[in-house]
Amino acid sequence: MFRASPVRMVTMDHAFPCGNLSLDFIGTLRARRDESPTEMLTSPAQLDSWFDESGIVDQVTASRQTDVRAAVELREAIYGLVTERLAGKAYDRTAMALVNDAARKPSVVPQLTRDGRRTDATAAQALSTVARDAINILGGPEAALLKECSRPGCTQAYLDTSRGGRREWCAMETCGNKMKAAAYRARKRNESRVATAG
Ligand SMILES: [Zn+2]
Repeated sequence: MFRASPVRMVTMDHAFPCGNLSLDFIGTLRARRDESPTEMLTSPAQLDSWFDESGIVDQVTASRQTDVRAAVELREAIYGLVTERLAGKAYDRTAMALVNDAARKPSVVPQLTRDGRRTDATAAQALSTVARDAINILGGPEAALLKECSRPGCTQAYLDTSRGGRREWCAMETCGNKMKAAAYRARKRNESRVATAG
């Protein structure tokens, strides 16, 4: 029986709010707690454009559908581990094994050229680089800095490296500004209500 996928198909540029490879990668499924989260890795071409826009490759060997499946599996494993870390729970062994397997493969390798350097990679190499980044974060002192964005519905995880650990949003340009604008509107509404009442 055909069932419509709950995932909306969107073709647009990817977002990199955190500046951490693996955390931005888990953000390719946006608004995770919505009924219809927004899936960005909808096709091999979309996966390739993520690798390209992330800056880890100059050129990726065209991905196939199996690469998209592997990417989504890796992403969900990383997300599960991040969630466990945020909840103070032990890491799930299956998710750890999946991330470790991906990291064990060769990663992307820059090559020196006369014009500078160049990085050509396969999807598996690019995913290995993402997995290694996740291991660095989840297995090191930075794990203590993990937070989830405070904007309701965003669900993006990030590392709070701000002084005093006071960062509230995955990115100020998006979520921070939206929340500030909402707070401003609420304040104005309140003020006009007080003025009307007075
Ligand atoms: Zn956010």
